[in-house]
Amino acid sequence: MKKRNIALLGSTGSIGTQALEVVWAFPDLLEVSVLTAAKNVDLLIAQALAFHPQFVVLMDETQGDKLKEGLLGTGIAVLLGEDALVEVVQHEPIDIVLNAIVGSAGLRPTVKAISCGKDIALANKETLVVAGEVIMPLVEKHGVKMLPVDSEHSAIFQCLAGEEQNPIEKIYLTASGGPFRGKDIAFLETVTKEQALKHPNWSMGAKITIDSASLMNKGLEVIEAKWLFDLDVEQIDVIVHPQSIIHSIVQFQDGSMKAQLGLPDMKLPIQHALTYPLRQPNTFERFNFLDYPTLTFERANHDVFRNLELAYEALRQGGDRPCVLNAANEIAVDAFLRDEISFLGMSKLIEATMCQLSSIKQPSLDDLIAVDQQTRVVARSLIRSIG
Ligand code: NAD
Ligand code: MG
Repeated sequence: MKKRNIALLGSTGSIGTQALEVVWAFPDLLEVSVLTAAKNVDLLIAQALAFHPQFVVLMDETQGDKLKEGLLGTGIAVLLGEDALVEVVQHEPIDIVLNAIVGSAGLRPTVKAISCGKDIALANKETLVVAGEVIMPLVEKHGVKMLPVDSEHSAIFQCLAGEEQNPIEKIYLTASGGPFRGKDIAFLETVTKEQALKHPNWSMGAKITIDSASLMNKGLEVIEAKWLFDLDVEQIDVIVHPQSIIHSIVQFQDGSMKAQLGLPDMKLPIQHALTYPLRQPNTFERFNFLDYPTLTFERANHDVFRNLELAYEALRQGGDRPCVLNAANEIAVDAFLRDEISFLGMSKLIEATMCQLSSIKQPSLDDLIAVDQQTRVVARSLIRSIG
């Protein structure tokens, strides 16, 4: 395999730091030329000193001097702000952009990277939730690869290898069920953010951890799967699988099913995307059947976990609805983490916001960027009335 040059967007986050572990494990195959962060300047400096990228980008411009001082004499170029984040992906040596930013802030860099002919390793599912119908034709037009990093989508992608001529009948996205699996609405009424932040199987950033507790993460993944694999909403089912060993399943038209399994470790789908189509040997921990003698499955409860149903509804309605759902959810999660609304208040806020905004049937990219901003304003204005 020829050495691959990576722009790692969101290097200081949960996916970002695990991606750097993967790069570290394959010094002859992988190198980074770009590292970016929102605010964590100390970690960004430490990463830059260890990996020697060509560029670092920091969103928080007030910490620019500290970053420049930390990298003085290294020859690493320091860039600041959102426009720099978008522009930096176009540089010549970059082969693949690993987008590990959280939220719709990941959209513009993805669009730019595709337009410049870069392959994409996509952790930032919000890119496809907000603008899947714009992104996928762009991927086609520029002939780039869109490689999923989300474990469920990586699983489906891996199951589809060699099946190019065989249509999918259905896919099953597995869900751990999160910390509130099996609970009822009365229980959810009083849960705290500390409880919601304790995920049973995965260690992740705060936003996706809350989304996992509310099942919005699975709702966003249903939308992500629709665009990645060109499916109708009826072809995508969610099944709760508390052990998180089966990462997802494809069912073909003869009724046969293929699944991808492994320990719940994001380094595996990250490595798969970065070294695709080769599977490089590694020393990560192996699965042991006797540690998991029973793999179990349950129905996902759309009544208790209303966010999952809201995501399905948004996908059925199409147009800008998934973009509105996503932006309202980003505000709702932020408000929950600030103790401004309750756990169930998140669904109420998303629903109330969706009712306030009239829908656009065939939005352009610019429409979607505007709708994202407008939704945030509306959702923020409704927080007090939800409580
Ligand atoms: P995180 O919060 O741990 O990290 C987010 C990264 O993005 C950080 O480096 C942060 O500095 C940067 N960032 C945050 N806001 C930004 C902004 N406005 N502009 C530019 N950069 C910004 O998040 P995470 O858990 O690593 O998740 C990242 C993405 O990967 C999300 O879309 C998430 O849904 C997806 N994902 C995560 C996991 C996981 O295990 N963590 C699994 C599957 C998918
Ligand atoms: Mg996932």
